[in-house]
Amino acid sequence: VIPSKKVAQWKYTTCNYCSTGCSIEIGLNEQNKIVTTRGHAGADVNRGKLCIKGILEHELFESPGRGTEPLIRDKHFEAFEPTSWDHALDTTADKIKAIQAKYGRDSFAIVSSGQLLTEEFYTLGKLARGVIGTNNYDGNTTLCMASAVSGYKRSFGADGPPGCYDDFEHTHCLMAFGSNLPEQHPIIYWRLKEALEKRHFPLIVVDPRVTMLAQFADIHLPITPGTDCVLINAMLHVIINEGLQDQAYIDSHTQGFEAVKALVQDYDPKQAQHICGIDEDTIRNVARIYARAPAAMSIWTMGINQSTHGSDGVANINNLNMITGNIGKPGGTSLSITGQCNAMGTREWSSCSGLPGYRYLENEADRNEIADFWGIDPEFFPKNRGLAETDIFPAIETGEIKGLWIVATNPMTSMPNTARIRKALEKLDFLVIQDVYSDVETNQYSHVYLPASVWAEKEGTHTNTERRVNLISNVLPPFKNSKPDFWIFNQLARRFDNGQMIHFPETPEGAFEEMKYLSKGKLSHGGPRNLDISGMSYQKIEAGRGIQWPFREKDESLKGTARLYSDGLFPTPSGKANLLPINFYNNNEQPCDEYPFWLNSGRVVEHFHTRTRTGKIGNCNKFSPTAYMEMNPDAAKELGVEHQTYVRLTSRRGDAVVMVQLTQRVPRNMVFIPFHYHDCVNRLTLGLLDPYSRQPAFKQCSTRIEPIDQD
Ligand code: SF4
Repeated sequence: VIPSKKVAQWKYTTCNYCSTGCSIEIGLNEQNKIVTTRGHAGADVNRGKLCIKGILEHELFESPGRGTEPLIRDKHFEAFEPTSWDHALDTTADKIKAIQAKYGRDSFAIVSSGQLLTEEFYTLGKLARGVIGTNNYDGNTTLCMASAVSGYKRSFGADGPPGCYDDFEHTHCLMAFGSNLPEQHPIIYWRLKEALEKRHFPLIVVDPRVTMLAQFADIHLPITPGTDCVLINAMLHVIINEGLQDQAYIDSHTQGFEAVKALVQDYDPKQAQHICGIDEDTIRNVARIYARAPAAMSIWTMGINQSTHGSDGVANINNLNMITGNIGKPGGTSLSITGQCNAMGTREWSSCSGLPGYRYLENEADRNEIADFWGIDPEFFPKNRGLAETDIFPAIETGEIKGLWIVATNPMTSMPNTARIRKALEKLDFLVIQDVYSDVETNQYSHVYLPASVWAEKEGTHTNTERRVNLISNVLPPFKNSKPDFWIFNQLARRFDNGQMIHFPETPEGAFEEMKYLSKGKLSHGGPRNLDISGMSYQKIEAGRGIQWPFREKDESLKGTARLYSDGLFPTPSGKANLLPINFYNNNEQPCDEYPFWLNSGRVVEHFHTRTRTGKIGNCNKFSPTAYMEMNPDAAKELGVEHQTYVRLTSRRGDAVVMVQLTQRVPRNMVFIPFHYHDCVNRLTLGLLDPYSRQPAFKQCSTRIEPIDQD
C-alpha cells in the first residue's frame, strides 16, 4: 500500500469483481493520478477488508489492452482500423436494421453480462426490447446464476436471495453446497470466519473436492458430482420420518408438503448412499444436526447452479429450509451466493425475466405496464421469453441468428465447448463487441469493436448477493476515447426510428428514477413487490454504504431490509411458498472406460472470470500465471504422470494440454482445472443444459488423460 501521505483524496465506489459487493475507496494523488485502493472501514459488507483483486483494483485504469478508439474491420475483413464513434455506431445500427429487415427481428441477438451497472442493464433492456425489438437478448449470467433465479421463482414466486451476510452471526448450522468461499468470495468467507470465531456452530460442506472451505468444515461430504438432490431428499426422508420438521411453519406458510413427503419415502439413506456417495450414518447425522438447530442456513454457488439439475437443486435446498422452518428468520435462510458483481442487477432489471423489475413477458399485465410507461404498443413485445445465451450460439449454427452484439463478456473462453462457439462466431454476418479491452479473445471474430470505459469511469449502481444496492462513482473521466456503456446504449438508441416515441434519460440517475418508479406497488396478482427501491437515492445509498431492497418511500433507516419473507408472506397468488417434489434423474456424462475421470472446474482467488482484467494485474497474474490440473497422486501413479509435467486431456468435445499438480484435494477419479484460462478447460466441457434455467453442466463431464512427451 502506498503511504497515505501520497494520497490527496479518496473517492468512494464499489468493487467491480465478485458479488460480495465490497465498498472501496480509490486514492488519487495531487496530480489526480490513481495510486491505490483501500476497503471502506465504515461499510457493513467488508468493514475495511478487501481481497487481492480488490486491493489491486486501481491498476485496472491504465492496464494493457484497453480499447482507446472504436475499431472497424476493413472491407476484406482482415485488419481493424480506428474509426470515429459516429461511423462505428452508424455502421452497427445499419447492420442491425439490414439483418432484421431481411431475416426478421429475432435474427439479431444481444448477449450482455453481470459486469455492467444496473442503470446500463435497464437501458440496454429498453433498447433491446422496446426499440430494436429482438426477443433474443440474454446475459452471461445464464452461465452462473440462472438456476438460482429459476429455483427461487419456482419455490417462492419471485427471484431474490432472502438472506444476508448478517445471518452468519445468528445461525446455529451452516451447510454450504458447492461453494468455495475463500477463493470465490473471500470477504464473505471472512465474515463467516469471524462469526465462527465468536460462536462456533457446525459448518457442513458438500463438495466432491476438498476445497479450502471444506478444509475448515466440521463435516465434509465428498458427494458424487451432480447428486445433491439425492442427498437432500435423503435428509428430508430422515427429517420427516423422525418428526423433526417444523409443521407449524409448513402448515402456515407453504403448500405441497404431502407430495414432498410421499416422494422422499423413496430416498431411504440406505439406498441413497449408493447414488450420492455419502454413507447412511452421515446422512442421518447431518439431517438431525440441521433440523434440530434453532436456526440453520444453506449457501450455494456454482456446484449447484452449473448442473443439469441446477434449478431442481435450488428448489430442493429451499424445500429443506422451508420444511425445517428456516426462511426469513435471523440465521435461517436459503442464500445463493451470486457470481459477478452485478449479476443481481441483470436479474432484477434486464434480461433474466424479459421485462424490468422482475416483470415477465408471459404476463399480460406486466407487458401492458411496461409498454404504457415506455410509451409503446404492448403488441411490440413478444409473449414469451426468447433464447438464453446458451441457446443463442446453437441458433447461429442453424442460421436462425445472423447478427450478434456481445457486451462485456468473452464467450470464446467462458462458454462450454469453445470449438463450437468459434464456429458459430465465424458464421455470423455481423458481430459487434463492446468491451473495456480490445484484446479480449472473442474480439478476433468481430466486425466492429466499441471501447467501453472501465467501471469507475462511470456512474451508477450494483446490487450484491444480499440485495444491497451500492454506488459506483466516476472516480476518473473515461480513458482516452472510450465511452461509458450507458452513453453507447443511448447513442445507438437514437439511430433507430421504429415509429415509437420512446424516451431515454440522459443520465444514469435519470434511468435510476425510472427504475424507482417501476419498482413501486404490487404484483399483478396483488402480492408484494419486494424489489422496491423507491425510497433510495444516490445520496442515501452512499450515506448508507449500500441499502438492501426492499427500501420503500416511507423507509427511513439507511439499512434497508435485511431479510425477505420474515412475515411468512410469499409473492405467489396464494401467499404461500411452494414445496416441490424433486425427483432425481441421472443424465450426467458419467466417467466410463474411454473417459474414466470426472472433470471439474472452478476458480482461483487471484483471477476473475476469463482474466480479461486480472490477467493484466501484476500480482494477480504472478501468483496464478497459467492453468493447472489438480490430480490425485494415486491416479497419477497408475498413469505414470508426475508432478508439474504436462498431460493431454481429451473429452468428447476436444482436447487441451495442461500442467499437473498432484494433490489429495481431488478424489482418485476426478481432476480439477480453473476455468479462467483461454483454450483450456472449456475446450472439453459439456454444453448439456438445465431444462428450467438453460444453465450448462460445466462441472460434470468426463475426460481421459495421457502423459505427453515432456520434450
Ligand atoms: Fe472485490 Fe469480491 Fe474481493 Fe470484495 S471479495 S474485494 S467484492 S473481489
